[in-house]
Amino acid sequence: MKNELTIFEKIIAGDIPADKVYEDEYCISFKDIAPKAPIHLLVVPKKKIVRISHATPADQELLGHLLLTARTIAEQEGFAEEGFRVVINNGKNAGEEVPHLHLHILAGMKL
Ligand code: AMP
Repeated sequence: MKNELTIFEKIIAGDIPADKVYEDEYCISFKDIAPKAPIHLLVVPKKKIVRISHATPADQELLGHLLLTARTIAEQEGFAEEGFRVVINNGKNAGEEVPHLHLHILAGMKL
């Protein structure tokens, strides 16, 4: 159904559990349920933006906040120095599974 909530909206609402590492007014971060690296976190804006190709100039500040939050989390979790990767999958050819914008943070190994 078109208006069905995504899994991430349910996590944001607190209706389903997640292994949360960070939260503020604008976004939430939690561990990916199927990690592709020893550290695999997702950063999800509380505002529903379907994917990066749906973002508008009005989202500029929020998009910057998501990247700075990736930095904050990397420092908080202690992997900022050794390095990490930030990935956004946009659409079918990128393998996007959840239609609610999210950053992947991958770390803890040589990628
Ligand atoms: P993407 O392919 O970019 O849409 O990424 C969606 C990610 O969400 C995948 O890496 C999934 O493993 C992850 N995921 C799906 N459901 C959950 C969940 N309930 N808790 C944490 N991560 C999830």
